[in-house]
Amino acid sequence: MKHFTIETDKDGIALVTFNSPDVTMNVLSAEVLAEMVSWVEQIGSDEAVKGVVITSGRDNAFCAGAELSGLGNAMADLAKLPAEERNAKLYTELFKMNAALRALETCGKPVAAAINGLALGGGLEITLACHYRIAASDNTKMKLGLPEAMVGVLPGGGGTQRLPRLIGAMNAFDLMMQGKMITADKALALGVIHETAPGAELVEKAKAWVKANPDAKQPWDQEKFKIPGGGPYHPAGAQTFMGVAPMIRKNTYGNYPAQRYIMSCVYEGLQVDIDAGLRIECRYFTKLMQRPESRNMIRSLFLSKQSLDKGGARPAGQSSGEIKNVAVIGAGFMGAGVAYVSAMAGIEVALVDVDQAAAEKGKAFAAGELGKRVSRKKMDQAKADAILARITPTTDYTVMKDADLVVEAVFENRELKAKITKMAEEQMQETAVFGSNTSTLPITGLAEASKRPENFIGIHFFSPVHKMMLVELIVGEKTSDYAISRALDFVTKIRKTPIVVSDTRGFYANRCVMRYIGQGMALLAEGVTPALIENAARMAGMPVGPLSLQDEVAIDLGYKIIKQTEADLGPDALPMGATAPILIAMIEKHDRKGRKNSKGFYNYSKDGKKRLWDKLDQFAINGVLPEDEQPTPAYIKERILYAQAIEAARCMAEGIVQDPREADVGSILGWGFAPYTGGALSYIDTIGAVDFVKRADELAATSGEAFDVPDLLREMASKGESFYGRFGKDKKAA
Ligand code: NAD
Repeated sequence: MKHFTIETDKDGIALVTFNSPDVTMNVLSAEVLAEMVSWVEQIGSDEAVKGVVITSGRDNAFCAGAELSGLGNAMADLAKLPAEERNAKLYTELFKMNAALRALETCGKPVAAAINGLALGGGLEITLACHYRIAASDNTKMKLGLPEAMVGVLPGGGGTQRLPRLIGAMNAFDLMMQGKMITADKALALGVIHETAPGAELVEKAKAWVKANPDAKQPWDQEKFKIPGGGPYHPAGAQTFMGVAPMIRKNTYGNYPAQRYIMSCVYEGLQVDIDAGLRIECRYFTKLMQRPESRNMIRSLFLSKQSLDKGGARPAGQSSGEIKNVAVIGAGFMGAGVAYVSAMAGIEVALVDVDQAAAEKGKAFAAGELGKRVSRKKMDQAKADAILARITPTTDYTVMKDADLVVEAVFENRELKAKITKMAEEQMQETAVFGSNTSTLPITGLAEASKRPENFIGIHFFSPVHKMMLVELIVGEKTSDYAISRALDFVTKIRKTPIVVSDTRGFYANRCVMRYIGQGMALLAEGVTPALIENAARMAGMPVGPLSLQDEVAIDLGYKIIKQTEADLGPDALPMGATAPILIAMIEKHDRKGRKNSKGFYNYSKDGKKRLWDKLDQFAINGVLPEDEQPTPAYIKERILYAQAIEAARCMAEGIVQDPREADVGSILGWGFAPYTGGALSYIDTIGAVDFVKRADELAATSGEAFDVPDLLREMASKGESFYGRFGKDKKAA
């Protein structure tokens, strides 16, 4: 075997060690599964084997779960088959793991898992099919969980059946629905595992348990087994199920089938024996794997994101290098965040501001965040001290002599940024790269102040920096591939997801999110009630409503951008329809700046609660529509998602983004575009270009230029193309 070794000791205990070659972590691929099927059979039939201990040969992890790229490819192949044949084939393939694990737990020999490191998804499911689980108490990277639902799938290796039979439906839902990952101590407290011990002692302890328990059986295979907390028709158990259905609805608005199917697997599975339960689980798994949500979520949230996280957008011919030393100029809101995440990633940071006090204040932000981590026991004090010590607050520009990269985050002012660029470049080495965190100023223009414009790039962080995972790298006219590559080195090192976009007003994410806010304003102007707009937007899968979002980013910021755009490009270039007049009135007439002055589209009270402002009806041009003329939530959802997706398609058409993977991942991580769709372009691909264009044309006729599709999309519709078909892997937009 390639992935497992088996050594049987003098007592007849077979030690099965999972240790796949050439990968950083053990994962479950089709090949691994085939070997597992064969060793389960071998062990069951070998009389010399009296018991089994399963462990991993990796000190960091036991098994990280299924290899999703393999699963994705297999699905693509199956998609060509007729439905009935596809269902049958998929069910047979998917059931192999269930069959093997069921055979393992009923082989008549005691089986223990020595979980030496992280066990997630299918990794944890293997251990759940063991009679005893003992996990390392001294591995700081230890995590246990069933996170499948996070990428739109369900625990299909028996997890939905064994976990509730072990810890009760309520606790199992809690872990599975949100893909929670827990520590060994928490798993012990919940009853997911039986024991913890130092890593070095695991195998011996597991062997001792096997020796002492020759007749081991799973709880569910014992007579008089009762489901902890009660099954669906037990008076106590029924409460769980009554609660879970509305809870799922509240959290997912029916957009995420994985959560619903998990509920059905547990509800139906707990009413039958485990063998029938496993078949039920596999049937839902088969169905789920064919849903577009699963395909799209696996692709964007796992495969594409993982590839981008590793620097997948690096230009050809450029190799990766290390970023050890960074200077951040401007220790304000954004600069302080950049300094903190850089220090966390092991980078030495010089944090520069106009005076020492301002620089120190920026460092204090990192101290506060690290303090929170220590008090929540997520980090020890020594580590926090070491990270904080990496940040040197200063006013001295000569520190930039040592920097591999300089990130500028001073006020959004062209002249100031030009001055800073010159001052920094006087000190910087020739090979160092200068990145501007501007949110609105074109990079090509800013680079005019640079004597090395080829080393000048936009590094656009989102706020708050330590929470937002996306970073846009903005390529100016003269930005070199080398500069892109160094910026990628930086962003991947601080463990954020970089996408590479071209230089345009609003870049990619802000351009699209403006369309989201724009629809909020348009609907308000059309007389739709604000509560309906906000609720329907959340039902569409957006994290917050458009009015709420505008309050968060600050209305005065939107106002300033409107004024700047008007000054630069004239009144005709003003953003979309209703937006400008509403935002101008909010600032000039009402001084409502958003959350920052506790009044915007919402009123914010001191106890943290917010309520929609009751004077918003003034923005309904022809008055608020009577109740029976208010549009349906479905219509608002469509408007909101179409407007954003069309802007993303325009960005592809203009070459602002060139790879659908970057456009999709960027849309989810950058502005929270409904994750179940797999991103803005996957949303169009799933509807299909023909139907999408048809509906967009109808919306354009009634609701404005936001719905004018680019020629690219019309051409794709006429040729029956999709974004992934036309621009997928290695086929970048022109
Ligand atoms: P901020 O006002 O919080 O911080 C700016 C900092 O720059 C201040 O500490 C100021 O003292 C310092 N500064 C000013 N002149 C300086 C000089 N000559 N030398 C050194 N430091 C100087 O601003 P912010 O919100 O952190 O924004 C900074 C940049 O990031 C802007 O370009 C902004 O457009 C961009 N940005 C902001 C956000 C956001 O949400 N706030 C998001 C993305 C990008």
